[in-house]
Amino acid sequence: MRRLTVGSARCYCERMLNAPSWEIGRALGIPIRVHLSWFLVFLFVTWSLATGYLPDALPGLSDSRYWGMGAVAAVLLFVSVLLHELGHSYVAQRYKIPIGQITLFLFGGVAQMRAEPPSPKAEFLIAIAGPVVSFALGAFSLGLAAASEWWPAPSGQGFAVLGGLLGFVNVQLGLFNLIPGFPLDGGRALRAGLWAWGHDFQRATSRAALVGLGFGVWLAACGAVLLGGAIGGLFDPSTASNGGWLMFIGAFLFGAAWSTRKQMTLRIALSGTLVRDVMVRAIVTMPPQLSLQSAVDEFFVAYGYGGFPVVADGQVIGVIAVEDVQAIAQGLWSWRTVGDAMRPASSDLFISPEASMMQALERMVGAGYDRLVVIDAGRPVGLVTRSAVAQFLQLRKA
Ligand SMILES: [Zn+2]
Repeated sequence: MRRLTVGSARCYCERMLNAPSWEIGRALGIPIRVHLSWFLVFLFVTWSLATGYLPDALPGLSDSRYWGMGAVAAVLLFVSVLLHELGHSYVAQRYKIPIGQITLFLFGGVAQMRAEPPSPKAEFLIAIAGPVVSFALGAFSLGLAAASEWWPAPSGQGFAVLGGLLGFVNVQLGLFNLIPGFPLDGGRALRAGLWAWGHDFQRATSRAALVGLGFGVWLAACGAVLLGGAIGGLFDPSTASNGGWLMFIGAFLFGAAWSTRKQMTLRIALSGTLVRDVMVRAIVTMPPQLSLQSAVDEFFVAYGYGGFPVVADGQVIGVIAVEDVQAIAQGLWSWRTVGDAMRPASSDLFISPEASMMQALERMVGAGYDRLVVIDAGRPVGLVTRSAVAQFLQLRKA
C-alpha cells in the first residue's frame, strides 16, 4: 500500500497515522517509522506463534524457545513488510518522486509519496514493485525451507518451519496487495491502465476506487460469512478470528476507496471550472493609508465582506481580512493603518481568470490565503475566496 499526501489519494488512514509513531532508522534516505498499532501486531503475532503455531509444528521444545522463535518470526515479518514498501519507494525515487516517510502500522505499511507519478508507466511500475519484492522474498523463504530438509535436526526443522511460514506470509502479502481495488497496489496498477487508456488521471482514479469499494464490500461479506458460520457451529471456531479480520480489512479498504472517490469528484468538478466563472466581479479595494477604524466602519461593516485587496497607485500591494484587523487591539485601530495590518502581496496572491478552480484552491491551501486576487492584463478584475469555492460545490450538488 502507498500513500500520497499531494493530490488524489490522501489516504483515509492518514488520520489514523497521526497517532504516536517512532522513527527507528532510515533506508534509501527515507525515515522509517513504526506506529503504535504495529507494537500490538508484534505482540499478537509473537504470542500466537509461541502458544499455538510453533508448539504444533515443532513439538517438544521449551517455552522460552517458542517465544524466542515467535519474536524472530515477528521481526522477519516486519522486515518483509518494510522491504515491500522499499520496493515501491525505490522505483518511485527512480522517477524522482520524493518519499516523505515509510510508516509500518496495523494493516502493513505505507510509503508516503510527495507527488503524483508522472506517467501511467511509472504508476504501474511503482505499484507492482511492492508485490514483486514480496513474491521474491516468498520464493526465497520457501526455497530455504525446502533446502533445510537436508540439514540435521533440530535446527533444520526450525528453519523449515520459519522459512515455510515466512514464505507463505510473503506470498499472501503479494497476492492480497494485487487485489485490483484502489488504493491497494493492484488498484493502482488498474488505475495506470485506465489512465493510459483514457488519458484522464482523475477519472481513472475514480473508477479504480469504485472497484476498491466493491472489493471492500466483498471482503467484509466473506468475513461476515466466516464469522457467522464459526459462531453458528458451521465452521471450526478458529475461523472466527479470520472472519473478523477480513471484515476489518474490508471496511478499511471500503473507507479508503470511499474517501478517494469523494476527493476525485471534487477535483473533477473544480478542474472543469474556470476562475472567471466563479470569481466575484464587484471588487472593492482599500488604500493602505486608511486607518483600521475607518476600514472597519466604512468597509468591513458597510459591505459585509471578509476581506479586501489593498491598492496603491493602481497596484495590488496586499490583502486585508477580518482576522488581520482582529489581531490588533481595538484601542489601536485609530492609530494603525491598513498598510500596517495587511498581508503583503506575493506572486501566490494573484491568479489568472483562465486558471481552473482546482489551481485556485491548491494555491489558497498552499500559500495560506483565504482569497486570491484575479488579475487580468495587470489589473485586478475580481476576487476568488474559499467560501466561494464551498458555495460553488454546494450549488453543483444541489
Ligand atoms: Zn504495496
